[in-house]
Amino acid sequence: MNRVCPVCNGLSAFHAVCQECSRPLDDSGRIYDYYGDYSPYREIDDSKLTNGMVDLQYHLCVHVGWCRSCRREQPVSVLEWDDSQLFTQSQQMPRHT
Ligand SMILES: [Zn+2]
Ligand SMILES: [Zn+2]
Repeated sequence: MNRVCPVCNGLSAFHAVCQECSRPLDDSGRIYDYYGDYSPYREIDDSKLTNGMVDLQYHLCVHVGWCRSCRREQPVSVLEWDDSQLFTQSQQMPRHT
């Protein structure tokens, strides 16, 4: 099954709020892009293995959220879409013709 992160692929806006002040967070990018220049996919797969079945099952893409008022970074898990979700979401999108 093909899975993609909707935020990384520009299919969906980044929606997350600060755990401290509940203001919307800015997306600072994918956490592995942010912290290193090694292969993001291999690192994510490795971390899924160490974290157990939950991450494997839900296919999360971890982003870095930035709160401008607290000046804090926090990891935000974005649920990846599979093919059926992609199809459904693309049907709902306004068409630019
Ligand atoms: Zn992502
Ligand atoms: Zn905050």
